[in-house]
Amino acid sequence: MFISNTANSSIAELLSNTSLNRQQIIQLLNLDGATTKNQLLKKAHQITLKYNNPQVYIRGLIEFSNRCQKNCLYCGLRRSNRIIERYMMTDDEIISAALYACKNHYGSIVLQSGESTDHRFCYRVTRLLKKIRHLTHGKLKITLSLGEQSKETYKTWFENGASRYLLRFETSNPRLYQMLHPQDSNHSFDKRLEALFHLRDIGYMVGSGFMVGLPTQSIGDIADDLLFLAQLDVDMAGIGPFICHSQTPLYNLKGTLLPEDDRLFLTLKSIAILRLLMKEINIAATTALETLSVEGRKMGLLAGSNVIMLNLTPDRYKTKYTLYEKSKNHRSYEGINNKTIHQSIPSGIKIAYSDFGDSIHYLKRQKRL
Ligand code: SAH
Ligand code: SF4
Repeated sequence: MFISNTANSSIAELLSNTSLNRQQIIQLLNLDGATTKNQLLKKAHQITLKYNNPQVYIRGLIEFSNRCQKNCLYCGLRRSNRIIERYMMTDDEIISAALYACKNHYGSIVLQSGESTDHRFCYRVTRLLKKIRHLTHGKLKITLSLGEQSKETYKTWFENGASRYLLRFETSNPRLYQMLHPQDSNHSFDKRLEALFHLRDIGYMVGSGFMVGLPTQSIGDIADDLLFLAQLDVDMAGIGPFICHSQTPLYNLKGTLLPEDDRLFLTLKSIAILRLLMKEINIAATTALETLSVEGRKMGLLAGSNVIMLNLTPDRYKTKYTLYEKSKNHRSYEGINNKTIHQSIPSGIKIAYSDFGDSIHYLKRQKRL
């Protein structure tokens, strides 16, 4: 871990700064438990409520396929994992999950899957977008999270009803990115960034992010990741803890990782610091947070997040969508009136029903606010 040796500013001073430099971010990332809870997370939560709707936005997450052409060393869906049973939801199953979200006033869905650039896959997504748009009469915003695609494909999807895209850069350190991926042109850091620029160019509301607690990742790396999100000027962000999967090469490094509690805590600090840096973006309380703690979602919402993803993938598929190994905390069903959802929302915050939940940052960027 990188420990700074220049003079530290007082925490109160840092938290009231209008901007933070790398050194100051490192200082905040190194805060101990009590100071973090009492000062950093509280400040981030206050800023979230002040600069955004004091509500939590909900997204219906549909993990429609676990087939993937890539081989990221950290992910259980990687192509070389022969143990996983692969699935692809049918059009009807995907559409009925989307209609469920619409009827239950979710306002927005996320279609996510492993990566495929096969033209039949791309065409199928276009067809699905058209159908969902037609059947929901514009009442549902559609976010895609389908990895790297050509600019033409992104454009076609945008023109046919997708308006938001999530594509994490995973780490802003090119050396670490290389270590986490096979050394081939399908797994290039530069291509990932190019894809993010294409998405922005086309007009998408763009979300990105990174994993916390990766093998060999330093506190300095995380500070750089946070500054990189600000530099990319993202509209939405997802920061989640790295969680090992036994069928991946990184499993060998399990013994070198930060303990789970520390990883969770470092993720919450990262979310909070991002909120200080980017006051009007949407920040998700990621599902991986919940894997580390049954209270993970609530903790995220008290640390600067304002979005939650409710999993609408049918149970028989959900158990096979194993980016990482899921814990018993994972919720088996996420209907909107499910008690566990309300329990995971901090008191005083309401769920924004029937709300698209556009990021204010995006609306301002588009001069719509
Ligand atoms: N295939 C698409 C979308 C699915 S993966 C893509 O890669 O963009 C979505 C996210 O899951 C990835 O961006 C990565 O940050 C996260 N992820 C994958 N494996 C993980 C792991 N072992 N621990 C935590 N997050 C992981
Ligand atoms: Fe595939 Fe995405 Fe997993 Fe990489 S992170 S192996 S692209 S599903």
